[in-house]
Amino acid sequence: MTKGALRLVLGDQLSEGLSALEGLDAARDVVLMLEVRDECTYVPHHPQKIVLILSAMRHFAEALRARGVTVDYVALDDPANTHSFTSEVARAVARHKPEGVIATHPGEWRVLEAMRGWEDALGVPVEIRDDTRFLASLEFFRRWAHGKKALRMEFFYREMRRASGLLMEGDAPAGGEWNFDAENRKRLPRDVIPPPPKRFPPDALTREVMALVGREFPRHFGSLDGFAWPVTAEQAGQALDAFITQRLPRFGDYQDAMAEGEATLFHALISTSLNLGLLDPRDACDAAEASYRRGDAPLNAVEGFVRQILGWREYVRGLYWLRMPGYAKLNALEARRALPEFYWTGQSGMRCMDAALTQTRDMAYAHHIQRLMVTGNFALLAGVAPDAINEWYLAVYADAYEWVELPNTHGMAIHADGGVMASKPYAASGAYINRMSDHCGKCRFDVKGSTGEGACPFNYLYWDFIARHERRFASNPRMSMPLANLRKMEGAKLQAMQAEAKRFLDKHAPLP
Ligand code: FAD
Ligand code: SF4
Repeated sequence: MTKGALRLVLGDQLSEGLSALEGLDAARDVVLMLEVRDECTYVPHHPQKIVLILSAMRHFAEALRARGVTVDYVALDDPANTHSFTSEVARAVARHKPEGVIATHPGEWRVLEAMRGWEDALGVPVEIRDDTRFLASLEFFRRWAHGKKALRMEFFYREMRRASGLLMEGDAPAGGEWNFDAENRKRLPRDVIPPPPKRFPPDALTREVMALVGREFPRHFGSLDGFAWPVTAEQAGQALDAFITQRLPRFGDYQDAMAEGEATLFHALISTSLNLGLLDPRDACDAAEASYRRGDAPLNAVEGFVRQILGWREYVRGLYWLRMPGYAKLNALEARRALPEFYWTGQSGMRCMDAALTQTRDMAYAHHIQRLMVTGNFALLAGVAPDAINEWYLAVYADAYEWVELPNTHGMAIHADGGVMASKPYAASGAYINRMSDHCGKCRFDVKGSTGEGACPFNYLYWDFIARHERRFASNPRMSMPLANLRKMEGAKLQAMQAEAKRFLDKHAPLP
């Protein structure tokens, strides 16, 4: 029998329609799947994230085999495993002697760099096909970005609405507006109890992987107990259905809210499935639009949800591939401090931070506002070095892959790109957190205080941040309000806050 192609499926490429599987000849081709230690440890990934990926890979391999496809699966505990993609692909080429290797464009720059060297190293043709599981191709994004001074998500999103036809009435946006964000900033009232999201207790295969990961990575941050992520396309579809019927109608209203004891509010918890390829982004948007058309969910909720996927998710991917590799090196605010130890212990004493950090440890999940306006905002104000905070976000969330993590952290949360993504830093004092949550009432710090031991650290860190960057922000019209307030402030008050900030930062986030 003549050998066919070796078709590589990476851990976040678990989609039936993957480009690397197009034209697969089950009689001749071999699908190669690799569990390699390098990928589990290049940052210390949360154990739930490793279990999720390995379990979903094993389920995917089983499904392929059930269709009669030959799968060469190299398990993590295979004694012959050399634990890097490049050396494992080389071993597989030696085993199968294929006429060529077919892969899909990976989600991380460093993997693409490695793949580009394979053809020379392996001595067989290597075809890297586009990843077609997104709503915008990289070419579409490049064309949109070409010649533009500012790459604002909002304008990209409108192009995507037009191109996809989602939530459109002819040429006009449904409801007459592109964006209903202004309606989506409500605090969670006491009598609104979000329905729990659908969770998936581990089956036998997942439990086996949990034992393996517990043995192999005992020191990685995060708990394995309570693992309940969807690991198959079928489960991902069930999670989406449950979200659409139970949570979508109020997703918009409470999209920016935070609440004590409510880790997930009305969020969808589908990023892990989307990013692994278990769920198709177009299906998620279509399901939300259908709910609106049926009259089951209001437009502010549906537009808000569609914007996250059709807008933000596609935009950050486009930006990542447009700007890498230089993007990761930017450090516009010259941030140099160490990551505070409490990001790993969850014991900062700040109620809002500890809520986000402990749920991150327990679930490998925090919702967007916790990531942006609590842990991200803190890192921005404190001036934590980009590499340190990027590594943390990449390690601790079950949905984290560099194409989506880096722009969100580097660009949106810590403004390291100097404004490529956001026209101003997302910097906020305790007042914002108090407005959007009920954490402050139970915190040992006083959200109204700005100096002294008991003052909310977000307050003095905020003014220290604005004062530190006063000259840099002077040319940004969107920073004129905080700068005007800074200039009106009594000198003694500012000095006291700066002294408090220095004391706090030197203790928790020292300079190198
Ligand atoms: P929902 O709030 O229910 O939103 C629905 C979907 O929209 C999400 O599943 C996600 O696919 C998409 N989405 C929403 N916001 C964004 C966004 N800003 N960028 C891209 N997609 C978005 N998302 C990741 O998938 N992986 C990451 O590594 C990641 N890192 C982040 C780091 C920081 C500092 C910040 C501020 C955000 C990050 N995000 C990341 C975006 C966002 O926080 C998560 O997508 C979201 O919290 C996932 O939870 P959910 O499925 O319940 O989302
Ligand atoms: Fe967070 Fe400050 Fe509120 Fe405490 S008082 S919960 S530290 S914002």
